[in-house]
Amino acid sequence: MISGIRGTRDILPDEVGRWRRVERAAVEVCERYGYVEVRTPVIEREELFAKGTGESTDIVQKEMYAFTDKGGERVTLRPEATPSLVRAFVEHGLEQALPFAKLYSLGPMFRYERPQKGRYRQFHQLDVEVFGIADPAVDAEVIEMASAFVAELGLEGAELVINSVGCEACRPAFSAALLAALGERVSDLCGDCRRRADTNPLRIFDCKVPADQPIIDALPHSEDYLCDACRDHFAEVRGHLDAYGLSYRVSHRLVRGLDYYMRTTFEILGAGLGAQNALLGGGRYDGLVRQLGGPDRPGIGFAAGLERLVLALPAGAGDAAPVDAFVVALGGATWAAARVLARDLRRTGLRVLIDYGGRSSKSQMKRANRSGARHMLIVGEDELAAGEVAVKEMETGEQRRVPRDGVASAIANRPAAHDRGRQASQPASENPGVAGDAGTRSVLVD
Ligand code: AMP
Repeated sequence: MISGIRGTRDILPDEVGRWRRVERAAVEVCERYGYVEVRTPVIEREELFAKGTGESTDIVQKEMYAFTDKGGERVTLRPEATPSLVRAFVEHGLEQALPFAKLYSLGPMFRYERPQKGRYRQFHQLDVEVFGIADPAVDAEVIEMASAFVAELGLEGAELVINSVGCEACRPAFSAALLAALGERVSDLCGDCRRRADTNPLRIFDCKVPADQPIIDALPHSEDYLCDACRDHFAEVRGHLDAYGLSYRVSHRLVRGLDYYMRTTFEILGAGLGAQNALLGGGRYDGLVRQLGGPDRPGIGFAAGLERLVLALPAGAGDAAPVDAFVVALGGATWAAARVLARDLRRTGLRVLIDYGGRSSKSQMKRANRSGARHMLIVGEDELAAGEVAVKEMETGEQRRVPRDGVASAIANRPAAHDRGRQASQPASENPGVAGDAGTRSVLVD
């Protein structure tokens, strides 16, 4: 047997409903806030991330799936989406076409990290980016949308954390202050931190090594080194968040693992996820578009990890709706009629199963029971002759004969007891079902 690659996962049928729940909420929320979708390739030039994500980041230093292709080009599986979206924005001149360049994208990312719960080598992100708006109101709107997305998924106990990491003007003084505060103690830090002290001292705040923490806790806070413009920007962002009534914690350690962030950074942490508890994270990156060869446009965005959102979903979210009916044929000519009945019911939007291989009625009924179908539809010689079908409601055991052409409405109008009051009769195609109740047919489109 050839097994899957370490750090990758198969998403099996029992989990797919939860994935769809998250993906649909993502699309729905983004579109409600005026974002449009972009889909970029999973493979890009390596230099896009070296320049975009940053040479000093762990991602570029050690985690990229980069290789030389058969034509001799250095390429990589994308480790994150932001540089790709910036590239697409610039390459296609999207700012001409879009009054507000508010883009979102969903798809797999690849990082050669040490796998653990909530951390994989292939994982999926919702990526959200806004180009061209420097107003702190957009920082707050992006953060508010991220919070709304998490709330829409019913995740309890999520915590919003924000910070400001300053800009090109004030960060050098902060970096110098960090190095001054560290002094000789740099040599007591882990190897990664010693490297960070040389390349980008801010990255030291990313360190998770326990022995380093007392030293890091005593370091100065970025908020105390902001220039006037950054301080005003941060105050305005906070003012907007307060107006939205969002609660948040300011954490001076939130510097985020990517080089391009400036001013606002934020994360939403999930409850009960263990060490890998960041559901999403992002921030402002005003220099990035220019750095990647585009016009000088500000940017802000975030990426949410879909695996972690799926893990954090409440129990029962995204559960598949029950099968509406299992058609049982009582032998001979009834099989053909039963198959046409199943086809006709499926065309009305109902979920219908039928057996194969001419099995006995007893074994079909066993399968009908196991399938969890809400109804069994029995097509026997008598029923066939009378143009009727025997309809059995599985929960109550109640059985009655219904004219063949009335079966669809009979079973649609007679949902199982636990489903009464829900929109069980609605065909899937008329029910977009985003953020829909997990038990309705809305989770069953296609
Ligand atoms: P980042 O792109 O590193 O800012 O991460 C944004 C979000 O993506 C995180 O908050 C996680 O939810 C998710 N994420 C990042 N790396 C991984 C990974 N290796 N496996 C699963 N999710 C990840």
